[in-house]
Amino acid sequence: MQNSDVFEKDREYIAHTYRRFPAAIKNGHGAQAEDYEGKKYIDFGSGIGTNSLGFCNDKWVQAVVSQVKQLQHTSNLFYTLPDSLLAERLCEVTGYSKVFFGNSGAEANEGAIKIARKYGIEVKGEHCNRIITLENSFHGRTITTLSATGQDIFHQKFFPFTEGFCYVPANDISAFHEAVDHTVCAVMLELVQGESGVNVLEKEYVKMVEQVCREKGILLIVDEVQTGVGRTGTFLCSEQYGIYPNVVTLAKGLGAGLPIGAVLMDKLTENVFQKGDHGSTFGGNPVVCAGAVEVVNQIANVEFLADVSSKSNYMREKLLSLPHITNVSGMGLMFGLALEKDIKAGKVAEKCVEKGLLILTAKEKLRIMPPLNISKEEIDTGLDILRECLSDTLL
Ligand SMILES: *Cc1c(COP(=O)(O)O)cnc(C)c1O
Repeated sequence: MQNSDVFEKDREYIAHTYRRFPAAIKNGHGAQAEDYEGKKYIDFGSGIGTNSLGFCNDKWVQAVVSQVKQLQHTSNLFYTLPDSLLAERLCEVTGYSKVFFGNSGAEANEGAIKIARKYGIEVKGEHCNRIITLENSFHGRTITTLSATGQDIFHQKFFPFTEGFCYVPANDISAFHEAVDHTVCAVMLELVQGESGVNVLEKEYVKMVEQVCREKGILLIVDEVQTGVGRTGTFLCSEQYGIYPNVVTLAKGLGAGLPIGAVLMDKLTENVFQKGDHGSTFGGNPVVCAGAVEVVNQIANVEFLADVSSKSNYMREKLLSLPHITNVSGMGLMFGLALEKDIKAGKVAEKCVEKGLLILTAKEKLRIMPPLNISKEEIDTGLDILRECLSDTLL
């Protein structure tokens, strides 16, 4: 089997929704992978921040395989143990009270939006159902989470969208104050806007938003689908902002590559969902949850997280010294690299993949999100490839 055989089959039978790099990844271990022709890659993307422990982490594989041999699924009509064990670990680690499991980030955000609306309507009345989100946010691809996403480009097709969202510019305190009124039940935001270019929100702004929400009885929902589970150097990114949102959504890094989404609820919101209010056929799948327990056990560890921060500092310094880079944004192992204006991120990324480095883009930036347990040597190898690609005079 050659890479081209895989490309052809995909092009014939898979709906053409993705612009893929011309690489067919066959297997991997840690931060290294191989394609169908034996070419090796260093991984600076970890899926899209999903393979938090790299490819096929030994202990995670063990946890998944042992569960899949025992029981793969029974539906949510019965009790199983792995989802409760995962929920317990998540609550221990984050201080939240209850967890709802779905299968993706968008689904987690849908859950959070439903909690916010039900809370607003029950506590304040039917008029209280609107949600403030930020410009340049990204909250998912379902019709409602596209609605929540504050980017016009996602609002051009697929009418009619879900009503009840309004968008404010990030870090603009007066615009936020203007948007708040008695119809607002919640504010939903990412602390680092991942998809739109790894833009880090200002601490002062976020603290002010939390304070206004507290004062007015508005729920604060933080979408940690991308920033959660150790990506920014703490288990939740919220910890670094010194905030405690009412609802936090997780997904990407939690399953180590298997699909899962989670809604974490605080004491105020833990009982909003009652029997029949929400559900998911596959949510809380035992195999995915057994693996995710291993993910939380490895990542919610002082030394592991300190290592993420130390590698972050190491990488940031090196990234700043690369040619044609004008700015490095991000937190932890989540970086956005702004390029000089005549250099296209997509072109550089293609070149990187060709030279053996898996890398991402976000809008006009390069985006780097390696597995959290990548080694310093692998970081160096990846950075060498990136430097070579950026130095290429033909760019
Ligand atoms: C990726 C992402 C989502 C959507 O997650 P899916 O699993 O693709 O549905 C939502 N919010 C943020 C912040 C994301 O980065």
